[in-house]
Amino acid sequence: MAQRVKRAFTYRFYPTLEQAEQLARTFGCARLVYNKALEERSRAYTREGRRVSYGESSVALTVWKRTEELGFLGEVSSVPLQQALRHLQAAFTNFFAKRAKYPRFKSRKRSRLSAEYTRSAFTWRDGQLTLAKMDTPLDIVWSRPLPEGAQPSTVTVSKDPAGRWSVSILCQDTIRPLDPADGVVGLDAGITSLLTLSRPIPGVTDAAGKVANPRHERADRARLARAQRALARKEKGSSNRAKAKVKVARVHARIADRRRDHLHKLTTSIVRENQVIAIEDLTVRNLVRNHSLARAVSDASWRQVRTMLEYKARWYGRELVVVDRWFPSSKLCSACGTIAAAMPLEVREWVCACGAAHDRDVNAAKNILAAGLAER
Ligand SMILES: [Zn+2]
Repeated sequence: MAQRVKRAFTYRFYPTLEQAEQLARTFGCARLVYNKALEERSRAYTREGRRVSYGESSVALTVWKRTEELGFLGEVSSVPLQQALRHLQAAFTNFFAKRAKYPRFKSRKRSRLSAEYTRSAFTWRDGQLTLAKMDTPLDIVWSRPLPEGAQPSTVTVSKDPAGRWSVSILCQDTIRPLDPADGVVGLDAGITSLLTLSRPIPGVTDAAGKVANPRHERADRARLARAQRALARKEKGSSNRAKAKVKVARVHARIADRRRDHLHKLTTSIVRENQVIAIEDLTVRNLVRNHSLARAVSDASWRQVRTMLEYKARWYGRELVVVDRWFPSSKLCSACGTIAAAMPLEVREWVCACGAAHDRDVNAAKNILAAGLAER
């Protein structure tokens, strides 16, 4: 059965000088409104033990706009300012539900530059998107088409530290489940290889079942290290330092983009080929701490993989089983069930007393699959 889901599509765009100025003003105003409302809510909370509602903040915003010193808030679309208050409301809801820390002020330098426009604040006509307070549509690079007949409900414009503009368009999409697949697979998250599958998928893994890190990543990392060294040499506060900073941000952004693309292709293939996918809940595994950079990178990728698998399995009618109890996946022989005495990290291959020869990671992936199938 086809499902209707909300889905965000993100594209680069190139603003005119005028649009860029208008957006920069909007980002600034949204941040100011967020911070000012946070300040008032904090005061009410600490001095009077009182919770301020979204409605009260919204009324306050109207009052601020009428004052002389904050009159400039009226020069930008009111919707992104309202949305900033909604985000603050959500931050407080999470705080009171003990899901998050107390909301923090958005800093000029470190916070994400973005503005959110709901339906009343943009027009969508003939495939062109025009934001409130703008005369011309955005020059969007349509790297992939929006779904047929899509009606955007929310549009988020942002600028990253590398100076790149992007627009994320939320719309309804229809997802049709894939035909049932025969395969079942277990996934092991690794450091040396990004991921190991209990059985290989041609074109995705090598013959053993291992997924390598993205091809360009090594070269990109070398480029990043070079850019970071160059940045470290620049004098603080100089314009050359600012330029070097943008360069570092650009390399970072490129690495993240490529990695995400890679993970998307990978998870789509895994979901297409398999009816049941078993993964390990890494919070269990991470009881054994390892603070290396490689570990941090692989954990971040793994979180992305898991999120992608979760929604893609739901979309396409697949079953994702998360094995959340600890078991010795590396030491257990997937052929006979014997547990080997010790398995130091440097041991990549081993032979069990039963005669089975194992690759450490493939064996672990097979054990995760078996545990997942047993848990269903
Ligand atoms: Zn064995």
